[in-house]
Amino acid sequence: MEKLARKQVQALTPYLSARRIGGSGDVWLNANESPFDNEYKTNFTRLNRYSECQPKDLIEAYASYAGVSAEQVLTSRGADEGIELLIRAFCEPNQDAILYCPPTYGMYAISAETIGVERKIVPLTQEWQLDLTAIQAQLDNVKLVFVCSPNNPTGNLIKREDIVALLEMTQDKAIVVMDEAYIDFCPEASTVDLLEQYPNLAILRTMSKAFALAGLRCGFTLANEELINVLLKVIAPYPVPIPVAEIACQALSEAGLARMKYQVLDLSANRAYLQAGLSMLQGVTVYDGWGNYLLIQFPEGDAMFKAAWDNGIILRNSLIKDCVRISIGNRDECEKTLSFIRNQISAIA
Ligand SMILES: *Cc1c(COP(=O)(O)O)cnc(C)c1O
Repeated sequence: MEKLARKQVQALTPYLSARRIGGSGDVWLNANESPFDNEYKTNFTRLNRYSECQPKDLIEAYASYAGVSAEQVLTSRGADEGIELLIRAFCEPNQDAILYCPPTYGMYAISAETIGVERKIVPLTQEWQLDLTAIQAQLDNVKLVFVCSPNNPTGNLIKREDIVALLEMTQDKAIVVMDEAYIDFCPEASTVDLLEQYPNLAILRTMSKAFALAGLRCGFTLANEELINVLLKVIAPYPVPIPVAEIACQALSEAGLARMKYQVLDLSANRAYLQAGLSMLQGVTVYDGWGNYLLIQFPEGDAMFKAAWDNGIILRNSLIKDCVRISIGNRDECEKTLSFIRNQISAIA
């Protein structure tokens, strides 16, 4: 049957998510999930009826949280669906291109490939910042420029002045898509205030990370009304299941937001604990991280990843030489991970 599939799809390698890679053990710090398993009341009626395309309560709750108007919000099946909708709505297959700057999140490339849209790749600089000159030279046919900040997997923020320069450079030509999946861990770094000034800005958000709802599959795109209306043309008629909208609304209630903020503080303390502990180890570099994860360079990154894996501590290896990404878990998971790594390093030394 595979030969019946589109050529582009036959050639595709699916995204190797942490879930697909698997592993076995009791410390799971590979998918940037939250360690908090919050409880929700689930008492649903009227499931015989279709959901609203864009549930009003949910859109209003997120608009209020993000500080934008309801017309500037679109909800979808995770931020990943937002990525796909943007490409489907704005890029002509076999003609237009997206541009992104690795090392970064893998789904921009996969979605573009699936849809048959060219990918232009302009690596981040040594400091993991935008190479604006190189981007400018590559903008022909580019409709979407994806920028992830805090960047996954490096953890750093992209400089605001560079984002503004990119928005200026692409005005009337391309849309800058800011992937703010981790922005709830550093809300002051959001570009949401730039929406007013730049109609070519779109921002991706998710309930999967700070809101501890990765399994819910709920994300948002923020942009001006005209751009949102374009996305509404290509979205499925009933993209958000009724239980998803109800649970997301609970998470965005006053109590839900307070809990999220408390949990962000807790995770930030654990991140500081892990960062301080790992930085003291010989030959280990810990990069500053603004999300719920840290990128760590070891003398032998692959060996460290493998050793942890064999001991039931599941981390995420990375394409960056000798680097391993560690999600911030609860304090117990962070302690176990730190002490395991400390013992490994002193065993080599
Ligand atoms: C996790 C993640 C996403 C996807 O979020 P979902 O809402 O779970 O689809 C998007 N971008 C980045 C950078 C991520 O790390």
